[in-house]
Amino acid sequence: MEKTVLRVVLISCIATLSLFNIVDIQNLRTLVVSDKKENIVKMKQHILCIMMAYPEYIIDLKLSENGNIYLIMKSGRKILYDDGKSKSPEEKISDPDLEDMMEPIYPLGKIDKLMDSSFNPGRIRIYTLLKEVYGEGKKEVEKNLDNINTYYGHLQFNRNNNASLALKSVMDELIPLAQSRADIKACLAPYSGTFNYRNISGTDRLSPHAFGIAIDLAYNENDYWQWSSRKQGQERLKSYPKEIVEIFEKNNFIWGGKWGHFDILHFEYRPEIIMMSRFFGNKNNNPDFWYDGAPIENDQVKSYIKKIDEVFDFKIF
Ligand SMILES: [Zn+2]
Repeated sequence: MEKTVLRVVLISCIATLSLFNIVDIQNLRTLVVSDKKENIVKMKQHILCIMMAYPEYIIDLKLSENGNIYLIMKSGRKILYDDGKSKSPEEKISDPDLEDMMEPIYPLGKIDKLMDSSFNPGRIRIYTLLKEVYGEGKKEVEKNLDNINTYYGHLQFNRNNNASLALKSVMDELIPLAQSRADIKACLAPYSGTFNYRNISGTDRLSPHAFGIAIDLAYNENDYWQWSSRKQGQERLKSYPKEIVEIFEKNNFIWGGKWGHFDILHFEYRPEIIMMSRFFGNKNNNPDFWYDGAPIENDQVKSYIKKIDEVFDFKIF
């Protein structure tokens, strides 16, 4: 499109939107100029996946007067989508926003090689979100724990957001499989733990185990990047039964074996990360529809798409 034509289209769109008080003219202009189409598509997909992953806890979406995008939680908390800061990989873990958390696409399915040490999809967590959904502080999380009884013992897991149901469904499928598969049984039993109110080793950040949303399966000395070399981790990864990983992923768990900083015995309930990969990880999606790939036959998903399009009405593209 010619520059002048584009400018006219932009100005007329801005004028139309401002008539309806959708957004302040200056802010919209800033967003339009600074964000490419692909960034806006990605932002909408990120937000849709977070809304689908935590349906009871996110009640609204707002674009503030200064152009910030917030998810509005049931408690009234607001969570910022993009803080606009440029960050090192370590800063993305210590001071993340929702965009940082959603950015790396988790690779679903079988892998043969350890990931690059800087690629850790799902290792970035937003604690405001976790506290809202699973409980703030040890006592509150403990009140939300369910006991899941299995053939190999019982497991404490958070019932909120269907996390314990998802683990139960994993175990219902994995345990019968372990009866005839010694390699699967050796990974399943004895479990190394679920709920444990503690920090991640060597950091002051809470572990996902503190929220009761992670399980460590049977321990092997080559499972963790801080205990073993990449070569040892690689060997362990290659021998890990792919069925275990597939069953967990199907139920919205990510696997620490797919982190460059590998944690092979660790599985964590993170529906937003799995959904982003499941619905939008496919490069063949139609680029003209930002939501192509999402389960649009579902009425709730349709209502989220409508909400997102209302808030970010970028018809310019
Ligand atoms: Zn763990």
